[in-house]
Amino acid sequence: MIPLHQAISIVMESGNRTTTPEKVDFIQSLGRVLAANVSSDLNMPPFNKTAVDGYACRMADAYQELEVVEVIPAGKAPSKVINQGQCAKIMTGAMIPQGADCVLMVEDTKEISENRIAFTGKSVKSNICLLGEDIKKNDIALTKGTTIEPHHIAIMAAVGCTQPEVSAKPRVAILSTGDELVEPSIAPAMGQIRNSNGHQLIAQVIKAGGEPHYFGIIEDSEDATRAAIAKAIAENDMVLLTGGVSMGDFDFVPKIMAELGIKIHFDSIAVQPGKPTTFGTVNGKLIFGLPGNPVSSLFQFDLLVKPAIRKALGASETTPSTVKLPLGSCYKRKKTERLALIPVEINDKGEVNPVNFNGSAHIFAIANANAVALIPQGVAELQKGDFVDVRPL
Ligand code: AMP
Ligand code: MG
Repeated sequence: MIPLHQAISIVMESGNRTTTPEKVDFIQSLGRVLAANVSSDLNMPPFNKTAVDGYACRMADAYQELEVVEVIPAGKAPSKVINQGQCAKIMTGAMIPQGADCVLMVEDTKEISENRIAFTGKSVKSNICLLGEDIKKNDIALTKGTTIEPHHIAIMAAVGCTQPEVSAKPRVAILSTGDELVEPSIAPAMGQIRNSNGHQLIAQVIKAGGEPHYFGIIEDSEDATRAAIAKAIAENDMVLLTGGVSMGDFDFVPKIMAELGIKIHFDSIAVQPGKPTTFGTVNGKLIFGLPGNPVSSLFQFDLLVKPAIRKALGASETTPSTVKLPLGSCYKRKKTERLALIPVEINDKGEVNPVNFNGSAHIFAIANANAVALIPQGVAELQKGDFVDVRPL
């Protein structure tokens, strides 16, 4: 049994950046990871522009009556130079005319007569956004490894990057072992349960940026398990198995992994739930034997598999951040040899309260949780107000 942090390091050291870049339409790149920097093909702003609606003039002339020589709408180039005693009426975003070095806000002016205005404000500000002050031509606008969010799409649009290079999605095989399993559309007969893990993992893989390849339910026989794992390895970058890793008579996933030449790096982690988690590698591919219990497989995916997928994608962030928040009530446990992962609800005061949780099969408890608290090994009791590490779900 190894501590969680060691298990995470082993997985992260074993995994490589596995995906090749591909070009996609920039709208379709939402959620993908940039495989190359995006640089700007222009200066932004592309010219000195006004930040306000008003009158462009010489700052030195601001306190005298000014003659309006033209009107400059956004998108039109000025046609006149501003000389002493002159100004041009100008709209937000339009190009500053030559000779002007400030814009008097329209709210701070009054019309004296036709084509003549005066400044009524207290002090004059420039109100000019300078050419290239946001970004210069050829500067990096977005760095490789960025996970694309809507604001990154805006940046790509601004610099004309309509075909960004993103990492291809790593192929992730999903195998659910267990003779007791039936698919969600089937009403389980006596002794059967529905396969929730397989579908939970498909969703998790998609959310983490991978491409799920579902192999369905694998019967509890050595031959079927061996054949399915071998095929999954041949066709994918990573393989996720659930079930068959406990101590039961039909839990032969670790044995078959060894037979297939998979190097087993660990087969149990000091966490609760999720202890019987096996991890191996073969030919640079990562094989995860996740526990069958639904809450365990959910948490272990988040802790171990997600960072591996993020690394395969070349993402600059691989691990979701942990925040420290105070407990809303006291917490006690008897056994402390494992790190406890408890489903919790963070309330609107920022306090952490454990939800009612019967153990690793109780997937329904998670519906009421919005985060997981990590209680370190050796800690038996915490008081209300003590800070705990929390990861959002
Ligand atoms: P195992 O590791 O195969 O002994 O499974 C441990 C527990 O998790 C058993 O109660 C299984 O019925 C349950 N389980 C295994 N696989 C799944 C699955 N795909 N979906 C839901 N529960 C499962
Ligand atoms: Mg089983």
